[in-house]
This record gives sequence, C-alpha cells and structure tokens, in this order.
Amino acid sequence: MDRDRILLTPGPLTTTLRTKLAMLHDWGSWDGDFNAVTASVRRRLLEIVHGQDSHVVVPLQGSGTFSVEAAVATVVPRDGHVLVLDNGAYCKRAAKLTQLMGRRCSVLAFDEDAPVSPAALEARLQADRSITHVVLIHCETGAGVLNPLEEVAAACERQGRGLIVDAMSSFAALPIDARRVRFDALVAASGKCLEGVPGMGFVFLRRAILDGCAGHSQSLAMDLHDQHVYMEKTGQWRFTPPTHVVVALSEAIAQFEEEGGQPARLARYQDNCRTLVDGLQALGLRPFLKPVHQAPIIVTFHAPEHPAYEFKRFYAAAKQRGFMLYPGKLTTLETFRVGCIGAIGRLEMQQAVDAVGAALRELGIPAAPQ
Ligand SMILES: *Cc1c(COP(=O)(O)O)cnc(C)c1O
Repeated sequence: MDRDRILLTPGPLTTTLRTKLAMLHDWGSWDGDFNAVTASVRRRLLEIVHGQDSHVVVPLQGSGTFSVEAAVATVVPRDGHVLVLDNGAYCKRAAKLTQLMGRRCSVLAFDEDAPVSPAALEARLQADRSITHVVLIHCETGAGVLNPLEEVAAACERQGRGLIVDAMSSFAALPIDARRVRFDALVAASGKCLEGVPGMGFVFLRRAILDGCAGHSQSLAMDLHDQHVYMEKTGQWRFTPPTHVVVALSEAIAQFEEEGGQPARLARYQDNCRTLVDGLQALGLRPFLKPVHQAPIIVTFHAPEHPAYEFKRFYAAAKQRGFMLYPGKLTTLETFRVGCIGAIGRLEMQQAVDAVGAALRELGIPAAPQ
C-alpha cells in the first residue's frame, strides 16, 4: 500500500502530506523566524473563535490533557470549588485531574447516551453557592455526544460562575463564538480537528480574568498565566517548544483557511459521518447514540452480536485493509468507535465501510442489513 493507514481515531489523525512536509526543517526556539510562526498561529487561533477582543490564547507543550490540567490549575483558585458535568470518560478524567490538583471537586452525573442538562446545572448552581467554576466537555469523545455549550455558558453567566470548556474534539469543526458564548477558559489541541500533529494544546483565556489568575497554579511548567506573560514579553515559549508541531500546525491552519474555515470543515465531517453511519448500518451495525445527540466527530457502534466477534481480531482485519478503528469506551456495553475527523473525505469513508464489511466477512460474521 502506497499510503499510510487511515486513522479513524479522535487524534492523532490522518494529516495531509503538506502538513507532514512542514516538519522537515529545524528551528531555533529563540529565533525571530520561529517566534513569528508562534505569533501567527496564536493570531489565527483567536480568529477561529472570534476572540480577538475578549480573549488571549496560550499554547502549551504536551497532549491535550496537559492543557486541561493547566487550565483548571491556572483559572481556579486553590480554595475554589469545581463542578464537573459528567456524561462520559473525558468528564471523569477532568474530575480526576481537578481533584489531584487539590481543588474541591463535585460531579453532576448524567447518562452517557445523552447530553448534560443545562436546567439541572442551573438548579445545582442555585442550590450550592460554594461552586466557583463549572467544567464542560463540549463533545464527549467517549461516546461521541454533543453537549449544549451555549446553554451551559448562559446558565453559568446568569449564576455568576466561571466556565472551563474542554473543546478538544470539537474546536475548529463545531461553531464556537466567543462574542456570544461566555467562557473563562476553552481548551483544544493541535492534533484534532485542525488536523495538525499531536504535541501541543492551547487555552483561550478571557482577558477579564487573566490578571486574577496570577499565582493560582501550583505547577511551574503548567502555569498558563506565567506562560502568557513570558510570551507577551519575549515572543518566546517559556520552555523548549515543540518546534516541529508548531510549524505543522501553522501549515494545517493555512489549509483549514483555504478549505473555507470552520463551516467547510464541519460540512466535510458531517458528510464523513453520514457516509460512515449509512454504510455500517447497511452492514447491520447499529450506532449507540440517537442521531440528534451525535456529534460528527466520532461514532460509537454496538459490537455485532455474534459469537465470532472479538474486537482485537476485527481491528486486525480492518488494519490489514488500511484502516485503524478505535476501541469503545463505555463501561457496560461492548462497542467500538470510528472517527470521522482528519484529512479524509467521502472516498476514504466509503473505503473504510468496505474494509469493515470485508473484516466482518473474514471473521465469519454475516452482514445483516436493518
Ligand atoms: C482527545 C481529547 C482530550 C485529550 O486527550 P489527550 O490524550 O491528552 O490528547 C481531552 N478531552 C477530549 C474531549 C478529547 O477528545
């Protein structure tokens, strides 16, 4: 096969050759040329959420979770009280890291097959005045549910509490407008819907809360306030930047802009998602979520109810045909997941459907159209 395997995963994901080629040079982290790339990436990231007037964006080395952890540590005072809206695995991770950083943490639990409820949130905020901040996962990548960002932000604003959004798997694909949606921090990363390579996250911080964040973080390396102050002063990252990741992201953002920005990216992912769901349903595979709750990012399917099914063998058979699937992340049901994101379109999704069909046949599982 003359192309890399297609990653049908929620990051790392398939990138274009152009993005990969951007990584063929060495850059000095203190050098003006590299600082100009960082500045341009930050400017274009802010434009994507229309946050030029209201927010700053602070990049941070590491995987996406590093930036979620840094956002909580930077924004929430040490005696703050965080309420995590929990409808899946990434919400549980956010609650765990909040606790580990010594912040008081409460959880408002919801089912993992539906969005969190803004009304239940508002009632909880009214009942418990000690809650200072709310954490929302915009697209819960665990099952693939889209959560109601605008309504949650409105409830937090009415109740005068801070909001931290993990928009890791939605940013650049789903619309997020900082002029209309009030958040204190919103977190995303290079290797998701912007179709860069993994290695850095970035956090949008509301200017109005920025100065008040000084000294909150108990971590040196993860202090976004410090990172921001240093970057504003010097144009440089505080500690060694992931230079190749940054230049690849810059090239990925250029392609994002050429494609038509967020609306075009969403349209392509929606088309990918439809092609995938229609194709796998025709093979007899059932999506876990109702279509209204499904974000066009990653789709959870019930595993085939057949004695010959085993995820590991299914995965290997699809991989051999050039497609990398993703295990399920639900606690009680046997499922698998297929991502719709990355530098892929309808053709690749149709090929993925064919590969899944062939993999099932190889396992001896007959197609059972619904
Ligand atoms: C991918 C993702 C993260 C970050 O995961 P990492 O493995 O640390 O990159 C966080 N939250 C959500 C919702 C995600 O989809």
